Amino acid sequence: MAHIQLKNIVKRFGNVFAVRDFNLEIQDKEFVVFLGPSGCGKTTTLRLIAGLEHPEIGDILIDEHRVNDMSPADRDIAFVFQFYALYPHLTVYENIAFPLKAVKVAKPEIDVRVRKVAQILQITEILDRKPGVLSGGEMQRVALGRAMVRQPKVYLLDEPMANLDAKLRIDTRAEIKHLHHEIGATTIFVTHDQVEAMSLADRIVVMHQGVLQQVGTPYEVYNRPKSLFVAGFMGMPSMNLLDAQLTSDQGNTVLQIDHTDAVLDLSHEQKSKLNAIKEKNGYVLGVRPEHVRVSREAVGRKIVSDVHLIEPLGAVNILDLSLGIHPETQESIVLRVRTHPTFKVDIGEKVWLDFDDEQMHLFDRDTEMGIW
Ligand code: ATP
Repeated sequence: MAHIQLKNIVKRFGNVFAVRDFNLEIQDKEFVVFLGPSGCGKTTTLRLIAGLEHPEIGDILIDEHRVNDMSPADRDIAFVFQFYALYPHLTVYENIAFPLKAVKVAKPEIDVRVRKVAQILQITEILDRKPGVLSGGEMQRVALGRAMVRQPKVYLLDEPMANLDAKLRIDTRAEIKHLHHEIGATTIFVTHDQVEAMSLADRIVVMHQGVLQQVGTPYEVYNRPKSLFVAGFMGMPSMNLLDAQLTSDQGNTVLQIDHTDAVLDLSHEQKSKLNAIKEKNGYVLGVRPEHVRVSREAVGRKIVSDVHLIEPLGAVNILDLSLGIHPETQESIVLRVRTHPTFKVDIGEKVWLDFDDEQMHLFDRDTEMGIW
């Protein structure tokens, strides 16, 4: 049982705010992923929970007890770092058994637990080896095994797969998911890889410059980003973010993408949301590459563009479409779209587009917060 609460946490290093007014509640057995670019405060937040750093302001509660002054050893937390520091002179078996020996668990009990963990992690065959002869992936599993064998209340995993190659990362990701399902302990996992975050998390915590930007299920942060930062960070290729203005077309309020002829009709619901707020200085329209419909015929579509670049990725193609030219920078205003590989088109060809109404996002250009 481990229910974690972070209340108004502030942590500074000199004049750098690593964590700013951070509030988060993590439920028992939840798998939460801290996601954000390098330096956004993920590791610091994890270290605060582990007791390796102390908050300047705020409270940390585990199972309703304030643990600010509790030592790391008393918090019953297992921490796996990016760099798995295994004891080189001990075998894999001894490395995994080490935390149990340290708290004087009886030998037969240690043996049962080490072998069970080794079986789950599929490292039984290498229990007699020393770390020096193991591959990166094997060492990673041993480090995970050493954390799992303790059966702590909470697992804190800080980029535990950073040193693995792409294929092993995907395999280990699946394993971690499976392990969490079996063990069910509260887990906080740090990564800057959004695919990893999407695939593992019950909820993702998106961070930027020490500030919590959004907490939600993978579906929510991907499909309902609350800010421009979250919108731009989630997704590969990322969401198209285009400056836009509201204008009037024969008395009808429409959205025009700046420096282009692209004009979008708004739904009744979108208009009423706009009516409910004060008029803004400018807007940013967000649309994901997979939510643009592309056709070689004009039928039913108003936006026309040129194909600028084609990237065939196997299962899909990514097209860069030019919607216009920025008058000051002379750069193309590019919209990236995803098409099926059977959609044949050449560079320089004209295509017609429309956007999925339900999947358009609008942000306030000044506050960078979402309007819909
Ligand atoms: P990464 O993905 O690169 O590991 P992160 O999101 O985990 O980054 P943190 O390591 O938490 O970020 O760092 C947040 C900020 O705090 C950064 O600006 C970092 O330079 C600073 N910082 C972290 N630890 C210390 C420290 N011990 N002394 C000084 N500054 C620190």
